[in-house]
Amino acid sequence: MAETFGGYKRISDDPHDLRAGIARQDEDIRAEVARLGGNADDIVWYPENDTSAFKKKRVQVSDPLGNEYDAWRVIRPVWHKALHDLRTKKVTTLVVWDLDRLARDPRDLEDAIEAVAHYGVRIVSATASTIDLATENGQMQARMMVLMANKSSADTARRVKRWHESVAKSGRPVGGRRPFGFALDRETHEPREAALVRRAAQDLIDGVSLHEIARRWQNDGVPTVLGGPWRHTSVRQILRNPRLAGWRTYKGEVLKDEAGAPLRGTWEPILDPDTFTRVQAVLAPSGNGPIARRGARQELLSGVARCGRCNGKMYVMKTRSGRFNYTCRGRTDMPHVVSIVGPGLDDVITAAVLRRLQNADLESPTLEFDGDAELQDVQARITELMGEFSAGRLSGTVVFPQVEKLEAERNRLSAEKDRFLKATAGPQVRKMSRSEWDALDLPRRRAIVERNLTAVMVRPATGGKGGAFDMERIEPVWR
Ligand SMILES: [Zn+2]
Repeated sequence: MAETFGGYKRISDDPHDLRAGIARQDEDIRAEVARLGGNADDIVWYPENDTSAFKKKRVQVSDPLGNEYDAWRVIRPVWHKALHDLRTKKVTTLVVWDLDRLARDPRDLEDAIEAVAHYGVRIVSATASTIDLATENGQMQARMMVLMANKSSADTARRVKRWHESVAKSGRPVGGRRPFGFALDRETHEPREAALVRRAAQDLIDGVSLHEIARRWQNDGVPTVLGGPWRHTSVRQILRNPRLAGWRTYKGEVLKDEAGAPLRGTWEPILDPDTFTRVQAVLAPSGNGPIARRGARQELLSGVARCGRCNGKMYVMKTRSGRFNYTCRGRTDMPHVVSIVGPGLDDVITAAVLRRLQNADLESPTLEFDGDAELQDVQARITELMGEFSAGRLSGTVVFPQVEKLEAERNRLSAEKDRFLKATAGPQVRKMSRSEWDALDLPRRRAIVERNLTAVMVRPATGGKGGAFDMERIEPVWR
């Protein structure tokens, strides 16, 4: 049987449509037909106007049992005609300009795969001819590309943007009330509140608790948006909102653009993204961050002081004199008591920490992630490639493998940055006088200690003096 070739091309009357022109499609399809040994002048053309490619219409269909029902389908008459001609062998090879543009609706692709699999015909892409719908691998590749084309469709991005604009224009509040830090227009800052948010973010990073921040705001008479009292949960809610970093959210999720970067809002951010990420690291519920565990009484070295016999954490035990010891009572299989005078140990360690801060060259600790430029570069390349793809200037076969590689690179860098930000989500180490230290609250002091020391090992007392204080017993383990 003689081979007959069909050419399926998309035409558009949208003047803003940047997809390759008809001439280019014609040229590519003719070249492919010639490559396959056909005569380019004998091509049966299927030109389809695709301006309504997204609209679904209600049609009557029947299931394999013969039951009729209403279904909603994208009706593309020319495409259905082409498929019909394939099934009836009017054409035996259909060349489409680009496979991922062929079928916006996965249903259309499945129809194409079925025709190839069961009617002994070919569907070939002029720009992605390596994808062979007759093989399982090729089918999988095509499905991936259609899914990606749907996901990254420029129209989707435009629709999201338009929705946000219409929301902003209508003044309809998203999520109800004015976010703390922002004016009623939700765009400009409420300067006093914005300053409080920035201060709170830094305090939190420095080890101040949410409770303490809420207490300060309450004492300072800072009004809440709804007029109620401040609670640590309301402070937390404020500091967890990605809007602070200028990122758009929808139902609590940060919206991403088609290249996976956070979508920026039209408002001015209150926090830079790095500070925001550090705050999230501190607030993360499972974090072993500088936030003190709640419950047990906390002193400066709670959780840091370690028993020199069993390496267990030493707990704060009140003494009869009203002071306290750090104490380990051992375990059932290894009973012992190791104890040391609390205030004495605190003093010695405080002096050692301050000395260390004095001596270390820590004037300008680096807080910049050194992969930032690379990360931005990778992101820009993904955006560029996806733009080329959306506009039809590059095909999915060219774009997909590159974007996949770049995404892996971006994910690696992001994870690295995340680790860096978490590791630096603590009080900044700097030279500090004893009086500055004394002015700090306990959480902040603890945070500085934890930032400098992994542990303070406390050996058992010798000579039966119980919790006696003896420098020989102490060994700080510095970070
Ligand atoms: Zn112990």
